[in-house]
Amino acid sequence: MTTQDQTIEAAGAPATPRRIGAHVGGWQVVDDAAARDVLNPADTRERVAVVTRSGPEVVDQALEVARDAAPSWGRTSALQRGAILARAAEIMASRAEEVAIAMTREMGKIIAESRVEAQRSAEFLRFFAQAPKLQAGATFPLGAPDEQAFTLRAPLGVVGLITPWNFPLSIPVWKTAAALAFGNAVVLKPAELSPWSAALMVECLLEAGLPPEVLSMLPGSGSEIGPALVDSPVTAGISFTGSTPVGREIVRRGAHAGTRMQCEMGGRNAIVVMADADLDAAISAIVNAGFGTTGQRCTSSSRVIVERSIADEVTERLVQAASALSVGPGLDPANDIGPLASAKQLDDVLDALDRATSAGTEIVWGGSRLSEGRLAHGHFMEPTLTRDRVDNWFAGHEPFGPVISIFEADDFEDALAMNNSVEYGLASSIFTRDLAHAMRFVHESDTGMVHVNRPTVGAEPHIPFGGAKASSIGPPEMGGAHEFYTKSRSAHVRWA
Ligand code: NAP
Ligand code: MG
Repeated sequence: MTTQDQTIEAAGAPATPRRIGAHVGGWQVVDDAAARDVLNPADTRERVAVVTRSGPEVVDQALEVARDAAPSWGRTSALQRGAILARAAEIMASRAEEVAIAMTREMGKIIAESRVEAQRSAEFLRFFAQAPKLQAGATFPLGAPDEQAFTLRAPLGVVGLITPWNFPLSIPVWKTAAALAFGNAVVLKPAELSPWSAALMVECLLEAGLPPEVLSMLPGSGSEIGPALVDSPVTAGISFTGSTPVGREIVRRGAHAGTRMQCEMGGRNAIVVMADADLDAAISAIVNAGFGTTGQRCTSSSRVIVERSIADEVTERLVQAASALSVGPGLDPANDIGPLASAKQLDDVLDALDRATSAGTEIVWGGSRLSEGRLAHGHFMEPTLTRDRVDNWFAGHEPFGPVISIFEADDFEDALAMNNSVEYGLASSIFTRDLAHAMRFVHESDTGMVHVNRPTVGAEPHIPFGGAKASSIGPPEMGGAHEFYTKSRSAHVRWA
């Protein structure tokens, strides 16, 4: 047994639930009368956290603290801000196992994925520690020899961050690190299901020396406190990740308040498999990107578009792969697929499958809830494969669960059209050995991220991350983050 396995075994026993208050200049005490429980989705008998339910008045308080702290934080040098983020990265890396176990307990993903997410989150902090130093502007001549113009980028001021539960640590981290690196003060509203992971991020940043006023965190319900955060004139920008309907509602409100908006939303991402593809590589990418994180990744490959001549073979191989996957609690390293994050998430996926099957979708593997034995108290379901024609409701519906929908295409043109036929446009991929098809796909697939012979998932800190169509509004994140978190200023200078 490795040390890591021992850690998990020790963590397997229900622990005292973690108490999480709002952080506004300092941690607030949890008021039990206004608190709610976070339950382990693998076994809802375990209460993993007792969490404050912040109301709109706490939003105003946090925004005031942030507004007062923003100017001096914005004036600290990029090197000083970077040094704090770099220290936070090392603290997070040293606490990675604790953080990983918290994530698995809180939202269910398997421990191997939580470990990767903890390390990746430390990488995001390291990347953004350096990013502001690389900011370059442009210089321009003006009318006279003793005049010059140049551009610089200034912080926005106070930014509000609203995050989902599926990457409970890394999404709060990549937004917060970027916002802080570029000199902004932050008010973060994590998902109701995953405040613990966000609280651990706040702890790492505070321990690294971040002034507490610069980062507030408000656990609570999005519909109750989100509008107060979006509507406030103090909020200069909102960066949101979540579902398309909520993102669009936030954009409507933000437009009214004149707030800069960035929204990363849903996807119905396809992997196109051409008859000339390396099928071993394609199958492994589909299984990883379709069932990983129980299918609850925005970049999940929930659609597979296969050239008709190999559709039966691909389907059979996917059935084989799905049947070999073990579903169970994520803290047990033997499991490949954990529970859905909540009862509602599980119900939504099963309802979507019901609706699809009544419209003619065929389930070729799985499709049911799992509740036998040790799965009885969790939100588990079978990895599921469906087979379909393109022109139904399901082709455009993001299942956000362990469901891969197989569609058949006549040829490349048909596959490309099917790939582009949905409302979403986050990520896409093609498996082929034909360079012309690969390059045409890169140019004509209407998604913000395109892959060739790779899964649709994955995010690198230095590469812009964002989608097209109903998947994104505003500039991309990560490698493109400076565009959102800073405003451009053109300076015109005469010195004689
Ligand atoms: P969601 O319901 O839209 O929630 C996202 C966040 O918005 C949560 O913090 C939520 O708070 C908050 N919220 C809810 N209603 C709000 C309102 N009226 N005003 C302000 N905030 C509000 O999304 P989800 O179910 O957590 O996440 C799943 C979705 O996220 C999927 O569609 C997935 O594709 C998408 N996603 C996209 C990306 C990407 O980068 N493109 C990444 C990950 C996930 P509560 O938790 O309190 O409801
Ligand atoms: Mg939701």
